[in-house]
Amino acid sequence: MTSARPICATVSANALQHNLNVVKQHAPHSQVMAVVKANAYGHGLLQTAQALHQADAFAVLGLNEAIDLREAGIEQRILLLEGVFDARELPIAAAYQIDIAVHHAEQVKMLANATLAKPINVHLKMNTGMNRLGFAPQAFKAAYEQLSGLEQVSEIILMTHFATADETNGIESALSIFQTHTQGLDHAKSLANSASILMQPDSHADWVRPGIMLYGATPVSTQSATSFDLQPAMQLTSEIISVQTLAKGESVGYGARFTADKPMKIGIVACGYADGYPRHAGQLHDGDMLAGVPIAVHGQRTQTVGRVSMDMLACDLTHIPDAQIGSPVELWGNTIPVDEVAHACGTIGYELLCALAPRVRFQFSDL
Ligand SMILES: *Cc1c(COP(=O)(O)O)cnc(C)c1O
Repeated sequence: MTSARPICATVSANALQHNLNVVKQHAPHSQVMAVVKANAYGHGLLQTAQALHQADAFAVLGLNEAIDLREAGIEQRILLLEGVFDARELPIAAAYQIDIAVHHAEQVKMLANATLAKPINVHLKMNTGMNRLGFAPQAFKAAYEQLSGLEQVSEIILMTHFATADETNGIESALSIFQTHTQGLDHAKSLANSASILMQPDSHADWVRPGIMLYGATPVSTQSATSFDLQPAMQLTSEIISVQTLAKGESVGYGARFTADKPMKIGIVACGYADGYPRHAGQLHDGDMLAGVPIAVHGQRTQTVGRVSMDMLACDLTHIPDAQIGSPVELWGNTIPVDEVAHACGTIGYELLCALAPRVRFQFSDL
């Protein structure tokens, strides 16, 4: 028998599809490359790709992920967002018809020296100010010309990635650099991540590359996912496995970091940091544990108390008289947006979703 430990991540194929439609409403003239790196932001690579079968392409990081998608029958374009890390990956990528990013002169060299059964599509990346990957704007045309002379290269798509797309006027300068240095190059362009799709209509171009918005979390810290009509794709649920009664002055958890200032009913939830729940939850205020993290029991909002341990956390049930052992708990999902949990922990929804641990049971609904 598999473990009946109650923690479970349920992913809704309907929500993923709804969010893909939100992308299409915002960028109706662009093809959509669904970003499914990091195990589809923790949602499960293959099933997420299956749910998003109406996307025009998929993007991942590792060649192994791209091959998994191909072997699962995905026929759309698949892009390696950082290209190959080693020349030995090139013939394999070519054999599986996987597109590669080229962001550095070293990668052009690898391509020029490669023997490939079929030519490969290249997404040539310009550094427009993020300063992580990409050719300097001044070096872009030369890289383009080198690539377009190679028999190893088939289609070339022009690509960049914005650092501040979530800010008003956040891409003006980067976009103008990109346009200046791609002038006269008659190729498809790929610029926009989720924040750009939602906030920067000028950036949509031929391809858009949504990640986080497909999963129903916000890319913009000042605006909620619901304000963009996005639906949470993942619901992380568990159950109360123990109930404690604290008298005034008693504490709960390691380090006794929460002390009751009145009689309290406390629920112990089967979810801890080994499941991917952030251990620093609620410790933002200098160890002052009064600021808990939102959590729902029986659909009612309450908050965590005390330190999160490896396998458990505690929450306040004082105002939820019906709560008992077996009561359903939502860590994040429809009642508690993952972005709210993230905010209370000083991080972003992206990190919490990606950090979900393999030991959490996983199921897809509506697929
Ligand atoms: C991860 C990634 C994306 C998706 O970003 P979101 O903010 O999740 O939409 C798009 N483009 C590139 C190059 C990426 O690495």
